[in-house]
Amino acid sequence: MSMNEKLALFGGEPAVQTDDQEMFRWPIITGDDEAAALDVLRKGSMSGTDVTLQFENEFAAWLKLDYALAFNTGTAAIHAAMYGCGIGVGDEIICPSLTYWASALQVFSLGGTPVFADVEADTLNIDPADIEHRITERTKAIIVVHYIGYPADMDRIMEIARRHNLRVIEDVSHAQGGLYKGRKLGTIGDVGAMSLMTGKSFAIGEGGILVTGDRSIYERAVAFGHYERFGANIVSAELKPLAGLPLGGYKYRMHQISSAVGRVQLKHYERRIAEIDKAMNYFWDQLEDVPGIRAHRPPGGSGCTMGGWYSPHGFYISEQLEGLSITRFCEALQAEGAAGCYPGCNLPLHLHPVFHEADIYRHGQPTRIANSARDVRLEAGSLDVTENVIVRVFAIPWFKHYRTDIIDEYVRAFRKVTANYKELLAQDAGNPARMGQWNLSAPVADRR
Ligand SMILES: *Cc1c(COP(=O)(O)O)cnc(C)c1O
Repeated sequence: MSMNEKLALFGGEPAVQTDDQEMFRWPIITGDDEAAALDVLRKGSMSGTDVTLQFENEFAAWLKLDYALAFNTGTAAIHAAMYGCGIGVGDEIICPSLTYWASALQVFSLGGTPVFADVEADTLNIDPADIEHRITERTKAIIVVHYIGYPADMDRIMEIARRHNLRVIEDVSHAQGGLYKGRKLGTIGDVGAMSLMTGKSFAIGEGGILVTGDRSIYERAVAFGHYERFGANIVSAELKPLAGLPLGGYKYRMHQISSAVGRVQLKHYERRIAEIDKAMNYFWDQLEDVPGIRAHRPPGGSGCTMGGWYSPHGFYISEQLEGLSITRFCEALQAEGAAGCYPGCNLPLHLHPVFHEADIYRHGQPTRIANSARDVRLEAGSLDVTENVIVRVFAIPWFKHYRTDIIDEYVRAFRKVTANYKELLAQDAGNPARMGQWNLSAPVADRR
């Protein structure tokens, strides 16, 4: 194909011609998932725990950990992980601001507060070099998010945590099945917790799961959200006398249609994400030499992988295309048929009013102040990488199958747009004042 071919934005033929929704459909649901869900409905065991216990055992065995505890959302699983780590009134947790709110916001209800750290420009994960100076005597834990699938620098983070006697909670919502130096994500910190909701790469419907090798974290998590299991099996002398009622008043049990589907999904998961990994790496391999864009993936041979490539993004390097805005760049890609390409990712949590002025529990002052011995609020300009990432990253197609004929069409779209970028400069209106969202789903207007 001639790279001088007319851009679709200006009336040329779009590079992507095949509209095969099977390439993007997720999760993959077969007759086995349907039968498992129907079985739960027909037995009327939606609120039971028999299927969920089996799912937990299989999930724990998959990760080679002693304990897995299922929840009705990832939000709940992370909440319980915080409680499991003993986080309480006045405590601080250090976490990235570039993430979904449920990595951190629940800590308010335990009487604690998040302290936000910046992320690394090339991985988008919490920057180990920005953690230590934020640690005080109130710091209890570091929350690590393997952001959009990229494994965080666990060796450096664990070293800091051990030196300061902090717990490490891995939020694996974006990276189930991913590896850090050959080790499964979620098994390296003290506890892993994650969403399994439908939009994620391990997708079973609303649901979440906590995994740990630490009996005391597991028991506290049971006591927090699973009153019906908070009984004779608890060995902790502190918890035992309180058995029967949930500590804090939450009921977080997983719906058994979710756990039934989860059992089926788990059987196929490694094979399915291996195909995604092959497809996504093939896509980026074709684009290595293209100016203006760069893959967000760990270097080959590092033993680190992207798991199921949840919500994959690429970096945009505007300087290499004479300052062409990412907005204009994505418009051109969309016109070529790459509908899922739009700018930005999560907005920075540290700038949201909930972390500045909201008085959620009627303390008579902002919760962020009431829950902390000091003012940990951060103004605009505090976290450089996080605040500027919105014009540096864009969503790319999330291929579920290794179909090189179709992937090649998308590769062609990217090559065509970058090769003809000069034509886009003329009518480039720049980026709008507001970009990105609080979650990672496609902006409503662009949703396919
Ligand atoms: C989705 C998500 C959660 C929350 O999970 P839910 O199942 O939606 O409650 C937590 N952390 C991150 C990083 C997420 O993307």
